[in-house]
Amino acid sequence: MSLSEITAKIEKEENRVGRAVGSTKLIAVSKVQPDERVEAVLRGGHRLFGENKVQEAAGKWPGFREEFSDVEVHLLGPLQTNKARQAMELFDAIHSLDRPKLANTLARLVQELGNCPELFIQVNTGEEPQKAGILPSDADAFIQECRALDLPIVGLMSIPPADEEASLHFALLRKIAERNGVDGLSMGMSGDFERAIAQGATHVRVGSAIFGARDYG
Ligand SMILES: *Cc1c(COP(=O)(O)O)cnc(C)c1O
Repeated sequence: MSLSEITAKIEKEENRVGRAVGSTKLIAVSKVQPDERVEAVLRGGHRLFGENKVQEAAGKWPGFREEFSDVEVHLLGPLQTNKARQAMELFDAIHSLDRPKLANTLARLVQELGNCPELFIQVNTGEEPQKAGILPSDADAFIQECRALDLPIVGLMSIPPADEEASLHFALLRKIAERNGVDGLSMGMSGDFERAIAQGATHVRVGSAIFGARDYG
């Protein structure tokens, strides 16, 4: 699908559920994609991208940023504390804040660097052991903890279990956000972004539907 087809689907869903057109941000997930595909989407005028790995983004985006200075890149994948400094320098937002140790490291780095990307707290709504994210029952306390550290928490993020109805997880994430006064909801991927919009997503993260299948070679 082309980027404009995805954008049209997003607008259609916003209309259908009575949301303002343009209230959902489309993060084009460029992880693993060849540079030519990413560049084509940049030339098409899109400026908001998502990556999964610090190292991969470090090799790709400083170059693109020279030509496309208004580009915005978000980190979506898990972040190790020893890469936190590099991540803070590379990304405009981090969607994978998921544990106290990382929150403390980021808070320390904010003091040193003087600024911080926007932060989304990842919630493991399906309570899957192999998946990152704070457990739903720990989310309220963790949000408070991050706020006490003066971290700029702008939203919550989740990746629902592959074999469950995503809408239930999106609704749970929204509920946690609402009761904590958090505005942003990063949820929905290629297969379920419309359902995420219906549940209030402010950021959808769409990769393969825009760029084609990823070739992990
Ligand atoms: C890869 C990835 C996406 C995009 O997945 P698609 O199914 O290709 O749209 C979204 N969010 C996260 C966290 C990802 O790792």
